[in-house]
Amino acid sequence: MGKVIDVMSLYPKDMNIYGDSGNVLVVLRRLALYGFEPRLHAYNQGDDWPEQVDLILGGGGQDTGQAKITDDLFRRADRLRDLAAGGTPMLMICGMFQLFGEYFETVGGERLDGIGVLGAYTVGQEHRMIGNLVEHSDDFGDIIGYENHSGQTFLREGTLPLGRVDHDGTGNNGEDHTEGARVGNVIGTYMHGSLLPKNPKIADHLIRTAVINRYGEFEPDQTSEQMFELARLDALAEEARKVAAT
Ligand code: GLN
Repeated sequence: MGKVIDVMSLYPKDMNIYGDSGNVLVVLRRLALYGFEPRLHAYNQGDDWPEQVDLILGGGGQDTGQAKITDDLFRRADRLRDLAAGGTPMLMICGMFQLFGEYFETVGGERLDGIGVLGAYTVGQEHRMIGNLVEHSDDFGDIIGYENHSGQTFLREGTLPLGRVDHDGTGNNGEDHTEGARVGNVIGTYMHGSLLPKNPKIADHLIRTAVINRYGEFEPDQTSEQMFELARLDALAEEARKVAAT
């Protein structure tokens, strides 16, 4: 029996647009290929909170989906803030990125409060920011994906972006070249795609952090077959990245 890692998919019913559930599949698959035993907890509104959570993944959603989950999100806000402060790795895409910030004022003028894990706020505009997105991060190299949002996000002083958009795409707001946000081990980003199949370095960063937090060290226990399959997935990601970069 491998070492268990508990992965939470946050609001998969309402917050899973543009295939963001692909991120969950990648994390589960890579954990298994490293020889760990992933255990998935799909958490939707009203569900019980699991006893153990090592890694949390949240997806994007329509403004209406975001409005639907905010009450429940606030019910769980203290727990999520505690986990974030304690170093639990989290990846929040688009709509969940916005709700992990301070607030999202929709284009319709509705104000949705966020839980303030990330020092960022978002204001909706009529013009949607849609298209391929390429950014550079010192930690992860070039990150490749797709964005589709009406919200312009602005980072508070002291909040780091995930990356810098130099030519392809809009990023947080189209004004300051930032994209996403990072605080501790929490990453927020507009990158759909899904993100992790094409950017395995980020998947491995989340996995490594989760494993070290729980077991004190990251020591994969893999068969040669698992290693071979992981290398194959990395090669596929490289191919996809080449296409996206052209
Ligand atoms: N509803 C939000 C916006 O339009 C988030 C969109 C998304 O998650 N793709 O900005």
